[in-house]
Amino acid sequence: MNYREILVKIEQYLEGKAHLDELAKKKQDPFKILISTILSARTKDSNTRIATEKLFAKYNTPKKIAKAYIEDIEQLIKSSGFYRVKAARVKEVSKVIIDKYNGTVPENYEELMSLPGVGSKTANCVLVYAFKIPAIPVDTHVHRISNRLGWVKTTKPLETEKALRDKIPKELWLKLNRLFVRFGQQICNPIRPKCEICIIENHCPRDFSMELAIKKKVKKKN
Ligand code: SF4
Repeated sequence: MNYREILVKIEQYLEGKAHLDELAKKKQDPFKILISTILSARTKDSNTRIATEKLFAKYNTPKKIAKAYIEDIEQLIKSSGFYRVKAARVKEVSKVIIDKYNGTVPENYEELMSLPGVGSKTANCVLVYAFKIPAIPVDTHVHRISNRLGWVKTTKPLETEKALRDKIPKELWLKLNRLFVRFGQQICNPIRPKCEICIIENHCPRDFSMELAIKKKVKKKN
């Protein structure tokens, strides 16, 4: 499989930038990238963007967020959804960054993973977008597209991350999430992918088995 060739084709086709990519290009500080990644859970980029900018317009350091009233944080990040849980999380993370890391976001996977509520996807996003350290953040787009392309045959994002790490050359890791997120938003959409205009259609077996299995499971439960 020529992973590089496929990623180059995708890169040449895509327009615009996804939110984390925008922050990285503007060289925003790692703390903002960490908080924005936490806010991005289960919502669209446009909502994350609004929530991040509102929050950072008022509180732009770990110290300020740690001291802020939780109700105020909730109001500022409301557009990101699940705002009560997310407000508690960003406040808690800010406190730990002050108490344990002297106000600086740690630059390695293990320490990032030790932050409250930070999982593998968030830790890897911070490594890639804040520090340019090769890692593979597996969000819903990366998980879905890697399975459709037949690059992995997995059911959980963590399995996808491991399988991709074993297969994809390390020099491509930094761009994989950036490209698949936009590709997933513009072409290989979760529902009704635009296969008829897809630039990598001849490299794709269109393996939807992972998604069909999830749908079946949900149906069974109901
Ligand atoms: S052919 Fe369809 S399923 Fe395959 S990558 Fe393109 S849009 Fe996605």
